[in-house]
Amino acid sequence: MVRHAGRGWHGRVLAAAIGVTAVAAATSVWTAQADPTGKQHAGTGVSARPSAPAAGAGGSAPAKVSETIVHASDRGARGVNITIDDGPDPVWTPQVLRVLRDNGVKATFCMVGTQAQAHPDLVRAVVAAGHRLCDHTVSHDTGMDHKSQAYQSQQILDAERMITKASGGVRPMYYRAPGGAFTPYSRGLAASRGMRPLGWNVDSKDFERPGTAAIVATVEKEVANGPTILFHDAGGDRSQTVAALREVLPWLKQQGYSFGFPVR
Ligand SMILES: [Zn+2]
Repeated sequence: MVRHAGRGWHGRVLAAAIGVTAVAAATSVWTAQADPTGKQHAGTGVSARPSAPAAGAGGSAPAKVSETIVHASDRGARGVNITIDDGPDPVWTPQVLRVLRDNGVKATFCMVGTQAQAHPDLVRAVVAAGHRLCDHTVSHDTGMDHKSQAYQSQQILDAERMITKASGGVRPMYYRAPGGAFTPYSRGLAASRGMRPLGWNVDSKDFERPGTAAIVATVEKEVANGPTILFHDAGGDRSQTVAALREVLPWLKQQGYSFGFPVR
């Protein structure tokens, strides 16, 4: 889709990952591997923390969660987290849901606010199937980390409202910045709304449509790097993604992995 403006953000993330890897000797492989904002990881992140939401707002004020970027799985050392970004999409999301269901896998869907607003039936189908929701901003701006705090706030909080309304009241539990463009401010804001900043360890590269076999090979090769795996259910023809999931989910199971959610 146009909002991705080609492959810019994927290249940017790759460059960031390489840069991080080069200075990662003193830190864990998992932290280095896929935290595209590693430079922000080391700080305390408290400088721009927003004030907590007002207490007692209908009793529904979300509890604050950690503002560090999570990669770990709640299923422990052999757990993996399947994450599906950029939807929901009326063509591809139902197909992804079918593959997940056929394999008994629960996943985390990072939704774009306008997509959720346009397809509330799909948001509800995702929730009904036991998957979790993640805020992926209103308009998928991969340059968020260079924008004002007011803009970042609008992008995150409006998407939170859109997704929650579309779902029928189920709140997103995570926040994933498009392209990994987190800031200390955006992490703190999301965390204050109960949305844990969510990174990834393995980019399946499915967005670039390299062929089903290549997507499968990337996941099989890189899953040892960490548990959180990135796929997409929107932004163009995702038939390769669907086909790759059909191969890679049983493979992961054969390897002894179990499927979980990112730790909150
Ligand atoms: Zn995205």
